[in-house]
Amino acid sequence: RGLLARIERLDPEINSFVTVTRDQALERAEAADAQRARGEAGVLAGMPLALKDIFCTEGVLTTAGSKMLGNFVAPYSATVVEKLAATGTVSLGKTNMDEFAMGSSNENSHFGPVKNPWDHSLVPGGSSGGSAAAVAAGLVPAAMGTDTGGSIRQPAAFCGITGLKPTYGRVSRYGIIAYASSLDQAGPMARSAEDCALLLNAIAGHDPRDSTSVSRVVPDYTRDLDAPLDGLKIGLPTEYFGDGLDPGVEAAVRDAVKVYESLGARVVEVSLPHTDLAIPTYYVIAPAEASSNLSRYDGVRFGHRCANPLDLEDLYKRSRAEGFGEEVKRRILIGTHTLSEGFFDAYYRKAQQVRRLIRQDFLDAFDKVDVLMGPAAPTPAFALGAQSDPVSMYLQDIYTIAINLAGIPGISVPAGFVGNRPVGLQILAPHFAEAHLLNVAHAFQ
Ligand code: GLN
Repeated sequence: RGLLARIERLDPEINSFVTVTRDQALERAEAADAQRARGEAGVLAGMPLALKDIFCTEGVLTTAGSKMLGNFVAPYSATVVEKLAATGTVSLGKTNMDEFAMGSSNENSHFGPVKNPWDHSLVPGGSSGGSAAAVAAGLVPAAMGTDTGGSIRQPAAFCGITGLKPTYGRVSRYGIIAYASSLDQAGPMARSAEDCALLLNAIAGHDPRDSTSVSRVVPDYTRDLDAPLDGLKIGLPTEYFGDGLDPGVEAAVRDAVKVYESLGARVVEVSLPHTDLAIPTYYVIAPAEASSNLSRYDGVRFGHRCANPLDLEDLYKRSRAEGFGEEVKRRILIGTHTLSEGFFDAYYRKAQQVRRLIRQDFLDAFDKVDVLMGPAAPTPAFALGAQSDPVSMYLQDIYTIAINLAGIPGISVPAGFVGNRPVGLQILAPHFAEAHLLNVAHAFQ
């Protein structure tokens, strides 16, 4: 109740929520209280949280930040949403995001930009900017995000919170509006690694409704949080400390690494030689998959429909022209081009080959070290409106995108400030090593 009032007071300015589900939240909070009274409540029962507006939520508006889905009330809930509800958490609503999760600043939302709670002239990062801002502003203790190329870790870094992208396949994608299906992964954004561990316990696991979710035992992610770090081998990728890295961010990250040394870790330099190829590879694969996933928005089955269409072709054309924003259209055009006959081998197939090399870089590095550390983003949060060309925006994701291409887990934890702007330390671990990743992150907090 207190948080709902706080949202009412602060969110008109921050704009982190698209929908506040007040009545459902109050009902569910009462149910959690009753559960507690019966002594049946688990550790998450009654915990308020928010869901990025990309998670289908039965009976609730689910927009993906788009005019195209501006009136879409989901007829079912995503597996993540169901699992969270089963633990007794109380969703307060759906958070703002870049349209269809395409962006790094939350400026591509049909529902307007989100402001960074630390400084309202700055962006919160994206695409899960609403989730990050809601947590940072103390509107909810945790929120769910999705990360296709950095969308959990970069906004977590910009807003000074902790955000975890699990291994691809660890969490079901069923009911999450698809952007790039081979890269999308849902994860928690919260105030600490411990909270992320509790939430990962709730959402991880195989789902028969998502064939890419992995049937592998889900450990208790809180169990090893306090394990000592003696002998931990940390790798610092040379390529993550090069040109374009803000000196203040670099200093904060290097200071964080020194803390780990004082806890008994050893630090070595490693190389991820294909780092330069990650952004071009991603911008072939992600738009290709997006153009295919977004072809379902045709104005017929659901979503925005133009007024008075002349014929079917006019209906498709105008519904899509009106419903999608500029960045989404750009990605659809790129993806349609790279998948078209005669170009497929030169672009998409080539990109898949490079993707394998990028993945191999990480596997080779993890032969030598336990975890990798570096910055989550090359700069701290930038001003609203400051990045006007798409390519400079794409370069924001230089340290996060390769992780999605490789499928490994990554976390961003708060590691100080440049002025009043938070910095995120990114920690990376081998596939399915989330428990260890959370242990390492927790040691710093
Ligand atoms: N900024 C990247 C993009 O625009 C990544 C977004 C994401 O992870 N969803 O595609």
